[in-house]
This record gives sequence, C-alpha cells and structure tokens, in this order.
Amino acid sequence: MSLEPDHERALREAEVDNADAAAEEMSLQGFTHRRCSRCNGELNVNDRGSGYTVSCETEKCLRLTFRGI
Ligand SMILES: [Zn+2]
Repeated sequence: MSLEPDHERALREAEVDNADAAAEEMSLQGFTHRRCSRCNGELNVNDRGSGYTVSCETEKCLRLTFRGI
C-alpha cells in the first residue's frame, strides 16, 4: 500500500524515468538535452563512479541517485 495518491505516484515515476534517461544519455553520449519534468530546468548529471546523481538546476527541486548504469 502506498501513501501517495495515484496521480502523485505517476508523476514521481515520470520524474524517475526522465532522470534515468538523462543519466543514460550522459553515459552513452556525454550530454543530455532532457529537462526537469517538474520545472523544465536544466538537469545536471554527475558521475559518481558507481552511479549517477541527477539534479535539477533549481534548488530543492529534484535530486535522484542511480547506481550501476
Ligand atoms: Zn526542476
């Protein structure tokens, strides 16, 4: 059971998918043109060695860490 309403969960999944795709593009191409799905700001992808941190240029908007891409 989730505490999140369905529409919020769907939004959250879209954010994760988008950030995941941005990290994958960065890994494959060295750049990404994807933008934040919340505020349309630029996404910054940082290589952590064992994974990636994807964060929005807008403070406190979006920050996600992916491992083992
Ligand atoms: Zn944002």
